[in-house]
Amino acid sequence: MIQNFPILLAEDDPVSRKLLEMSLTKAGYNVVSVANGRKAVEKFTEKFFPIIVTDWEMPEIDGPEMVRIIRQNRTVGYVYIIMLTSRNSKADTVSGLESGADDYLTKPVDLPELMARLKTGIRIIKLERSLRKANEEIHFLSITDPLTGCYNRGYLAEHIHHEINRVKRYKRSFALTICDIDFFKKINDEYGHQAGDEVLKAFVNSLNKNTRQKVDWVVRYGGEEFIVVLPETDCRGVAITAERIRANVENMVIPFEGNKLRITASFGGTCMNDKTPLQKSNLEAILKRADGLLYLSKSTGRNKVSIDEL
Ligand code: GH3
Ligand code: MG
Ligand code: MG
Ligand code: MG
Repeated sequence: MIQNFPILLAEDDPVSRKLLEMSLTKAGYNVVSVANGRKAVEKFTEKFFPIIVTDWEMPEIDGPEMVRIIRQNRTVGYVYIIMLTSRNSKADTVSGLESGADDYLTKPVDLPELMARLKTGIRIIKLERSLRKANEEIHFLSITDPLTGCYNRGYLAEHIHHEINRVKRYKRSFALTICDIDFFKKINDEYGHQAGDEVLKAFVNSLNKNTRQKVDWVVRYGGEEFIVVLPETDCRGVAITAERIRANVENMVIPFEGNKLRITASFGGTCMNDKTPLQKSNLEAILKRADGLLYLSKSTGRNKVSIDEL
């Protein structure tokens, strides 16, 4: 367990450094030791350490300066820093902590005390890790739809302007298609809500499978209505993509409790580039256009793709 918390040790005095390194290693820690603050910063840049134990006075870069440098940069996790010092005036303690250290010990270091303080550090690091994980989960839940794993409307509203700005600024293109399952209500009515849910998941699977990974993104816009956002795509591109999805969905067989469910879907898509008038270059106008074309697909027989520019 302790091995998961490697320590970066910075101490210019070779005897103290060796002694500390041996004691920490004996206690089960993985230790990398260096002779000054500059080397500590170098090592830390190469590899992340959750714990740093550092001397105060060192040549080149001293303890407080090194701590300041480490704290200035964004790190993948919290770094718990213990400063070792022969100074013991109140003012020095305050300035050490103000530079960003979490704790300090006066020299000569009392080893049992150092071990106990490292344990405190590990408790704090673990707490920070679990909070960070919980925050990531909350963030993920806040932008996705739990049934299908797609992004939700909130995410669309927040992120679409990045796409639109890119189109304008770098003269790129961008397209989007709304996809709506045909007669979906009938699936629910005939086979139950759970069957409907399975169909939704299978449909999204097809959307993901038939679009570019990590480039295109899928949004659940309503019950059985999805939006595929296609960066760097023109009208021809969105037409090809929507047609590929349409054909795949038409041929898909979705097993549910011994039944073989089949569906079709209709598509309405649009595209824009840097020449698209500004008053049309917003989410509302784009969706209105795509929705109108979806309606055209629906009203002219369903299982169809209708694409036109914005
Ligand atoms: P159209 O071809 O005109 O699109 O007809 P439709 O039946 O697909 O469209 P309609 O809007 O009449 O019905 C959509 C249905 O989707 C109604 C609603 O109960 C169902 N629905 C919405 N969300 C979910 C869900 O999460 N799970 C399931 N199983 N059904 C859902
Ligand atoms: Mg020193
Ligand atoms: Mg529908
Ligand atoms: Mg619908």
